[in-house]
Amino acid sequence: MKKVILGILVAIMVLSLSGVAGAGKLIPVADQANEKAKTDNSPAIEKTGDYLVLTPPGLEKVVFIHYKKGYGGFCDNDGVCEKDLGENPSCADCKKDKDEPEEPTTACYAFLGKWIEWKEWPVNYVIDPDNPDGLAEDFVTNAIFLGAEEWDSYTGAELFGTYSIDYSSSWDSDAPDGRNELLFGDYPKDGVIAVAIIWGYFTGPPSSRGIVEFDVLFDTDFTWGDGALNPAVMDLQNIATHEIGHGVGLADLYNTVCLDETMYGYSNYGDTKKRDLNTGDITGIQELYGGF
Ligand SMILES: [Zn+2]
Repeated sequence: MKKVILGILVAIMVLSLSGVAGAGKLIPVADQANEKAKTDNSPAIEKTGDYLVLTPPGLEKVVFIHYKKGYGGFCDNDGVCEKDLGENPSCADCKKDKDEPEEPTTACYAFLGKWIEWKEWPVNYVIDPDNPDGLAEDFVTNAIFLGAEEWDSYTGAELFGTYSIDYSSSWDSDAPDGRNELLFGDYPKDGVIAVAIIWGYFTGPPSSRGIVEFDVLFDTDFTWGDGALNPAVMDLQNIATHEIGHGVGLADLYNTVCLDETMYGYSNYGDTKKRDLNTGDITGIQELYGGF
Protein backbone atom coordinates (compact mmCIF):
# COMPACT_ATOMS: atom_id res chain seq x y z
CA MET A 1 0.00 0.00 0.00
CA LYS A 2 2.91 2.29 0.80
CA LYS A 3 4.13 1.81 -2.75
CA VAL A 4 0.77 2.83 -4.19
CA ILE A 5 0.72 6.00 -2.13
CA LEU A 6 4.29 6.74 -3.12
CA GLY A 7 3.38 6.11 -6.76
CA ILE A 8 0.45 8.53 -6.53
CA LEU A 9 2.64 11.15 -4.88
CA VAL A 10 5.28 10.80 -7.56
CA ALA A 11 2.60 11.01 -10.25
CA ILE A 12 1.14 14.16 -8.72
CA MET A 13 4.60 15.71 -8.38
CA VAL A 14 5.50 14.98 -11.99
CA LEU A 15 2.14 16.28 -13.19
CA SER A 16 2.43 19.55 -11.34
CA LEU A 17 6.04 19.96 -12.37
CA SER A 18 5.30 19.33 -16.03
CA GLY A 19 2.45 21.81 -15.97
CA VAL A 20 0.54 19.59 -18.38
CA ALA A 21 -2.21 18.91 -15.93
CA GLY A 22 -2.98 19.35 -12.27
CA ALA A 23 -3.56 16.66 -9.69
CA GLY A 24 -7.20 16.54 -10.81
CA LYS A 25 -5.99 14.72 -13.90
CA LEU A 26 -5.41 11.46 -11.99
CA ILE A 27 -7.21 8.81 -13.98
CA PRO A 28 -8.82 5.81 -12.30
CA VAL A 29 -7.26 2.60 -13.58
CA ALA A 30 -10.66 1.37 -14.79
CA ASP A 31 -10.98 4.35 -17.13
CA GLN A 32 -7.57 3.87 -18.61
CA ALA A 33 -8.81 2.22 -21.82
CA ASN A 34 -11.29 5.01 -22.42
CA GLU A 35 -8.65 7.60 -21.80
CA LYS A 36 -6.29 5.94 -24.24
CA ALA A 37 -8.96 5.80 -26.91
CA LYS A 38 -9.16 9.57 -26.96
CA THR A 39 -6.44 11.56 -28.63
CA ASP A 40 -5.55 13.31 -25.43
CA ASN A 41 -2.05 14.72 -25.12
CA SER A 42 -1.88 14.50 -21.35
CA PRO A 43 0.22 11.70 -19.87
CA ALA A 44 -1.66 8.48 -19.18
CA ILE A 45 -1.48 6.98 -15.73
CA GLU A 46 -1.29 3.23 -15.60
CA LYS A 47 -1.36 0.69 -12.85
CA THR A 48 1.55 -1.74 -13.03
CA GLY A 49 1.45 -4.14 -10.13
CA ASP A 50 1.43 -1.97 -7.03
CA TYR A 51 2.61 1.11 -8.83
CA LEU A 52 0.77 3.91 -10.54
CA VAL A 53 2.95 5.12 -13.34
CA LEU A 54 3.05 7.86 -15.91
CA THR A 55 3.44 7.08 -19.57
CA PRO A 56 4.54 9.92 -21.83
CA PRO A 57 1.89 10.87 -24.44
CA GLY A 58 1.65 8.38 -27.27
CA LEU A 59 4.35 6.14 -25.91
CA GLU A 60 3.33 2.56 -25.19
CA LYS A 61 4.98 -0.58 -23.98
CA VAL A 62 4.59 -4.28 -24.57
CA VAL A 63 6.00 -6.92 -22.24
CA PHE A 64 7.05 -10.41 -23.34
CA ILE A 65 7.40 -12.99 -20.60
CA HIS A 66 9.47 -15.99 -21.58
CA TYR A 67 8.47 -19.11 -19.67
CA LYS A 68 10.16 -22.36 -18.96
CA LYS A 69 8.36 -25.30 -20.59
CA GLY A 70 5.43 -26.35 -18.46
CA TYR A 71 4.63 -22.82 -17.30
CA GLY A 72 2.41 -20.22 -18.91
CA GLY A 73 0.34 -22.54 -21.06
CA PHE A 74 0.94 -24.96 -23.92
CA CYS A 75 -0.27 -25.71 -27.46
CA ASP A 76 -1.10 -29.33 -28.27
CA ASN A 77 -2.82 -28.72 -31.64
CA ASP A 78 -5.49 -31.37 -30.99
CA GLY A 79 -8.29 -29.21 -32.34
CA VAL A 80 -9.77 -28.47 -28.92
CA CYS A 81 -9.12 -25.29 -26.99
CA GLU A 82 -8.31 -26.37 -23.43
CA LYS A 83 -7.82 -23.00 -21.80
CA ASP A 84 -9.01 -24.40 -18.48
CA LEU A 85 -6.14 -26.91 -18.60
CA GLY A 86 -3.70 -24.17 -19.36
CA GLU A 87 -3.64 -24.03 -23.16
CA ASN A 88 -2.29 -20.70 -24.30
CA PRO A 89 -4.96 -18.41 -25.86
CA SER A 90 -2.66 -17.71 -28.80
CA CYS A 91 -2.61 -21.42 -29.80
CA ALA A 92 -4.16 -22.42 -33.10
CA ASP A 93 -6.69 -24.57 -31.22
CA CYS A 94 -8.04 -21.57 -29.34
CA LYS A 95 -8.07 -19.30 -32.35
CA LYS A 96 -10.29 -21.76 -34.20
CA ASP A 97 -12.78 -21.62 -31.32
CA LYS A 98 -13.15 -17.91 -31.86
CA ASP A 99 -13.65 -18.33 -35.62
CA GLU A 100 -10.37 -16.59 -36.21
CA PRO A 101 -8.28 -17.74 -39.15
CA GLU A 102 -5.76 -20.37 -38.15
CA GLU A 103 -2.12 -19.33 -38.18
CA PRO A 104 -0.55 -20.61 -41.38
CA THR A 105 1.82 -23.35 -40.25
CA THR A 106 4.40 -22.46 -42.88
CA ALA A 107 4.94 -18.93 -41.59
CA CYS A 108 6.76 -19.37 -38.30
CA TYR A 109 7.24 -15.69 -37.56
CA ALA A 110 5.12 -12.94 -36.05
CA PHE A 111 5.55 -9.22 -35.51
CA LEU A 112 4.90 -6.90 -32.57
CA GLY A 113 2.56 -5.07 -34.91
CA LYS A 114 2.36 -3.39 -38.26
CA TRP A 115 5.23 -0.97 -38.94
CA ILE A 116 6.56 -1.44 -35.43
CA GLU A 117 10.31 -1.65 -35.92
CA TRP A 118 13.41 0.46 -35.43
CA LYS A 119 13.34 3.38 -37.82
CA GLU A 120 17.00 4.24 -37.32
CA TRP A 121 20.02 2.06 -36.76
CA PRO A 122 22.56 0.99 -35.66
CA VAL A 123 20.87 0.17 -32.38
CA ASN A 124 23.35 0.37 -29.48
CA TYR A 125 22.85 -1.36 -26.16
CA VAL A 126 24.04 -1.54 -22.58
CA ILE A 127 25.03 -4.74 -20.77
CA ASP A 128 25.09 -5.09 -16.99
CA PRO A 129 27.17 -8.23 -16.41
CA ASP A 130 26.44 -8.42 -12.66
CA ASN A 131 25.05 -11.90 -11.94
CA PRO A 132 24.72 -14.26 -8.96
CA ASP A 133 26.16 -17.23 -10.87
CA GLY A 134 29.75 -16.04 -10.94
CA LEU A 135 29.80 -15.65 -14.72
CA ALA A 136 32.71 -13.58 -15.96
CA GLU A 137 32.06 -10.20 -17.56
CA ASP A 138 33.55 -11.45 -20.83
CA PHE A 139 31.25 -14.45 -20.90
CA VAL A 140 28.13 -12.35 -20.34
CA THR A 141 28.99 -9.64 -22.86
CA ASN A 142 30.06 -12.18 -25.46
CA ALA A 143 26.87 -14.26 -25.15
CA ILE A 144 24.66 -11.17 -25.54
CA PHE A 145 26.81 -9.73 -28.34
CA LEU A 146 26.57 -13.00 -30.28
CA GLY A 147 22.78 -12.92 -29.81
CA ALA A 148 22.55 -9.43 -31.33
CA GLU A 149 24.96 -10.26 -34.15
CA GLU A 150 22.95 -13.36 -35.07
CA TRP A 151 20.03 -11.12 -36.08
CA ASP A 152 22.36 -8.60 -37.68
CA SER A 153 24.00 -11.24 -39.87
CA TYR A 154 20.75 -12.05 -41.67
CA THR A 155 19.83 -8.54 -42.75
CA GLY A 156 21.60 -6.10 -45.04
CA ALA A 157 20.99 -3.35 -42.49
CA GLU A 158 23.75 -2.69 -39.94
CA LEU A 159 21.12 -3.26 -37.29
CA PHE A 160 23.22 -3.47 -34.12
CA GLY A 161 26.07 -1.15 -33.32
CA THR A 162 28.19 -1.26 -30.21
CA TYR A 163 27.50 -2.19 -26.61
CA SER A 164 28.72 -0.55 -23.46
CA ILE A 165 29.09 -2.04 -19.99
CA ASP A 166 27.33 -0.43 -17.05
CA TYR A 167 26.96 -2.08 -13.65
CA SER A 168 24.11 0.23 -12.66
CA SER A 169 21.62 -0.62 -15.41
CA SER A 170 17.88 -0.83 -14.83
CA TRP A 171 14.99 -2.71 -16.38
CA ASP A 172 12.64 0.16 -17.19
CA SER A 173 9.00 -0.86 -16.86
CA ASP A 174 7.73 2.51 -15.59
CA ALA A 175 9.23 4.82 -18.18
CA PRO A 176 11.92 4.46 -20.83
CA ASP A 177 15.33 6.04 -20.21
CA GLY A 178 16.64 5.93 -23.77
CA ARG A 179 19.00 3.02 -23.13
CA ASN A 180 18.56 -0.55 -24.37
CA GLU A 181 19.61 -2.42 -21.26
CA LEU A 182 20.20 -6.14 -20.70
CA LEU A 183 20.68 -7.26 -17.11
CA PHE A 184 20.04 -9.93 -14.51
CA GLY A 185 17.40 -9.53 -11.83
CA ASP A 186 14.66 -11.26 -9.90
CA TYR A 187 11.28 -11.31 -11.63
CA PRO A 188 8.52 -12.07 -9.10
CA LYS A 189 6.78 -14.89 -10.93
CA ASP A 190 7.44 -18.65 -11.09
CA GLY A 191 8.77 -20.25 -14.24
CA VAL A 192 9.83 -17.00 -15.89
CA ILE A 193 13.22 -17.23 -17.58
CA ALA A 194 13.43 -13.72 -18.99
CA VAL A 195 11.26 -10.69 -19.63
CA ALA A 196 11.59 -8.21 -22.49
CA ILE A 197 9.90 -4.84 -22.42
CA ILE A 198 9.57 -2.89 -25.64
CA TRP A 199 8.77 0.83 -25.63
CA GLY A 200 7.54 2.57 -28.72
CA TYR A 201 4.79 4.23 -30.72
CA PHE A 202 2.46 1.43 -31.69
CA THR A 203 -0.51 3.32 -33.12
CA GLY A 204 -1.03 6.20 -35.50
CA PRO A 205 0.29 6.73 -39.02
CA PRO A 206 2.96 4.20 -40.16
CA SER A 207 5.71 6.82 -40.38
CA SER A 208 5.31 7.80 -36.75
CA ARG A 209 5.28 4.24 -35.40
CA GLY A 210 8.42 2.55 -34.19
CA ILE A 211 10.44 1.06 -31.38
CA VAL A 212 12.32 3.49 -29.16
CA GLU A 213 13.74 1.21 -26.48
CA PHE A 214 13.97 -2.37 -25.31
CA ASP A 215 15.13 -3.74 -21.96
CA VAL A 216 15.75 -7.38 -21.09
CA LEU A 217 15.77 -8.97 -17.65
CA PHE A 218 17.33 -12.43 -17.17
CA ASP A 219 15.57 -13.91 -14.17
CA THR A 220 17.97 -14.92 -11.41
CA ASP A 221 15.56 -17.69 -10.33
CA PHE A 222 17.51 -19.78 -12.84
CA THR A 223 21.18 -20.67 -12.99
CA TRP A 224 22.73 -19.15 -16.11
CA GLY A 225 25.71 -20.27 -18.10
CA ASP A 226 26.81 -22.03 -21.25
CA GLY A 227 24.19 -24.66 -22.06
CA ALA A 228 26.48 -26.29 -24.62
CA LEU A 229 28.98 -27.15 -21.88
CA ASN A 230 26.49 -27.78 -19.09
CA PRO A 231 22.93 -28.87 -19.97
CA ALA A 232 21.81 -28.15 -16.40
CA VAL A 233 22.00 -24.37 -16.86
CA MET A 234 19.91 -21.83 -18.76
CA ASP A 235 21.96 -20.89 -21.82
CA LEU A 236 22.51 -17.15 -21.80
CA GLN A 237 23.25 -16.79 -25.51
CA ASN A 238 20.16 -18.85 -26.35
CA ILE A 239 17.80 -16.69 -24.31
CA ALA A 240 19.55 -13.43 -25.23
CA THR A 241 19.07 -14.16 -28.94
CA HIS A 242 15.34 -14.78 -28.35
CA GLU A 243 14.82 -11.65 -26.23
CA ILE A 244 16.76 -9.45 -28.67
CA GLY A 245 14.36 -10.77 -31.33
CA HIS A 246 11.59 -9.03 -29.37
CA GLY A 247 13.81 -5.96 -29.23
CA VAL A 248 13.83 -5.71 -33.01
CA GLY A 249 10.09 -6.26 -33.47
CA LEU A 250 9.34 -9.97 -33.45
CA ALA A 251 6.71 -11.67 -31.30
CA ASP A 252 6.56 -15.08 -29.61
CA LEU A 253 5.42 -18.24 -31.39
CA TYR A 254 3.53 -20.85 -29.39
CA ASN A 255 2.52 -23.26 -32.12
CA THR A 256 4.59 -26.43 -31.65
CA VAL A 257 5.24 -26.64 -35.40
CA CYS A 258 7.46 -23.59 -34.83
CA LEU A 259 9.52 -25.08 -32.01
CA ASP A 260 12.77 -24.89 -33.97
CA GLU A 261 12.52 -21.11 -34.26
CA THR A 262 14.49 -18.70 -32.11
CA MET A 263 11.19 -16.92 -31.44
CA TYR A 264 9.45 -20.06 -30.11
CA GLY A 265 7.96 -18.98 -26.80
CA TYR A 266 9.34 -21.62 -24.44
CA SER A 267 12.79 -22.78 -23.41
CA ASN A 268 14.37 -25.15 -20.97
CA TYR A 269 17.71 -25.95 -19.33
CA GLY A 270 20.42 -26.76 -21.83
CA ASP A 271 18.43 -25.41 -24.79
CA THR A 272 20.84 -23.87 -27.33
CA LYS A 273 18.62 -24.16 -30.40
CA LYS A 274 17.64 -20.48 -30.26
CA ARG A 275 21.24 -19.33 -30.69
CA ASP A 276 20.82 -19.89 -34.44
CA LEU A 277 18.01 -18.32 -36.43
CA ASN A 278 15.67 -20.72 -38.22
CA THR A 279 13.85 -20.14 -41.53
CA GLY A 280 10.90 -18.30 -39.96
CA ASP A 281 13.17 -16.01 -37.91
CA ILE A 282 15.17 -15.17 -41.03
CA THR A 283 12.06 -14.37 -43.06
CA GLY A 284 10.82 -12.19 -40.20
CA ILE A 285 14.00 -10.14 -39.72
CA GLN A 286 14.32 -9.63 -43.49
CA GLU A 287 10.73 -8.46 -43.81
CA LEU A 288 11.46 -5.88 -41.12
CA TYR A 289 14.92 -4.68 -42.13
CA GLY A 290 15.53 -6.07 -45.61
CA GLY A 291 17.67 -8.88 -47.00
CA PHE A 292 20.85 -8.47 -48.95
ZN1 LIG B 1 9.55 -14.31 -25.97
